[in-house]
Amino acid sequence: METTSPAFFSGTLLSWYGRHKRSLPWRDTINPYFIWLSEVILQQTRVAQGLPYYLKFTEAYPTVQDLASAPQDEVLRLWQGLGYYSRARNMHHTAQQIVNEFGGKFPDKYAELLQLKGVGSYTAAAIASFAFKEQVAVLDGNVFRVLARIFGVADDIASPAARKVFQKLADSLIPADEPDTFNQAIMEFGAIQCTPVMPDCMFCPLQQSCFAFNHGMVQELPVKSKAKAARPRFFHYIVLEHEGRFYMRRRLEGDIWQGLYDFYLYESMDGQLDEKQLLHDLQAAGASIDTGTLILPQKSYKHVLSHQKITAWFYHLKLKLRLTEEVLQEARLVAFTPQQIEELPKPVLINNYLKDAGILVYL
Ligand code: SF4
Repeated sequence: METTSPAFFSGTLLSWYGRHKRSLPWRDTINPYFIWLSEVILQQTRVAQGLPYYLKFTEAYPTVQDLASAPQDEVLRLWQGLGYYSRARNMHHTAQQIVNEFGGKFPDKYAELLQLKGVGSYTAAAIASFAFKEQVAVLDGNVFRVLARIFGVADDIASPAARKVFQKLADSLIPADEPDTFNQAIMEFGAIQCTPVMPDCMFCPLQQSCFAFNHGMVQELPVKSKAKAARPRFFHYIVLEHEGRFYMRRRLEGDIWQGLYDFYLYESMDGQLDEKQLLHDLQAAGASIDTGTLILPQKSYKHVLSHQKITAWFYHLKLKLRLTEEVLQEARLVAFTPQQIEELPKPVLINNYLKDAGILVYL
């Protein structure tokens, strides 16, 4: 490991930050609620894509009390497009926890922040340092990369043991008087200067003391073991329509997209549609090819999640008769007009189909 002094490292970093930092709304506040919102959103996406979501959420819910009392469907709808919907549900739950257990006031210590649901060490460190100036270092992908390269740390950043090594190193570097700016600076440095693929080493103020640069290891550091390949899944959606209303259902716990709305689903193992099974499923849903017009899929839709790769096809069946109450209850289906569907929280893949099929024209 190189021996760049903490004072030199933090001094250089802070002066670089003063010259290069982007102006972002969550950097101009010490409101822990806004900081928390921004961190939850930015875990999902890059700054440019996350910014409109931050603005939407702070406008719709200016206080943690507003978020806590909002209906979950509304929160999921605002979150739509960011993915990882469990984060949105956790965020909503955490807002309620803050209101019910902490009197609506964010805890002001790192250790207490960790007690909040969905708040891990990164988010707790970010809130504790940005809002309350606690001297605790944040660790995210940017920080891992910067530290691994400058200090020549070759531990696998995907391992829990490495987290301890990096945390110890980062905590030894963070200055007591400006922990907030230091944390912002090191993340910004990783995002702008010491980027994953083409870091700007030529004009880097830390170049001389950078282990990776001096040892020709910029592309080798940080070390990260490969994640497991995503599991392929094949969805055949049956879009049941009767007189302009579409039957949808809310997804349950125990699978992806919990709480979001999609259609009657037949899942196959290999992407092949078992027609017999489909007919059986349609029959079970109280519908059949004989009772309506079937529009076969024009194309497949793909959606990649962290551990799953989804391919979906949509079979649009226009029914002559409406489904009976019994069938609707059994299949947990509810009929919605396109205007109502627009307001429902939906996976992006479903939204894309609805737009392509001309069902949603107001988006
Ligand atoms: S010299 Fe290159 S690898 Fe080293 S810190 Fe600077 S940008 Fe990153």
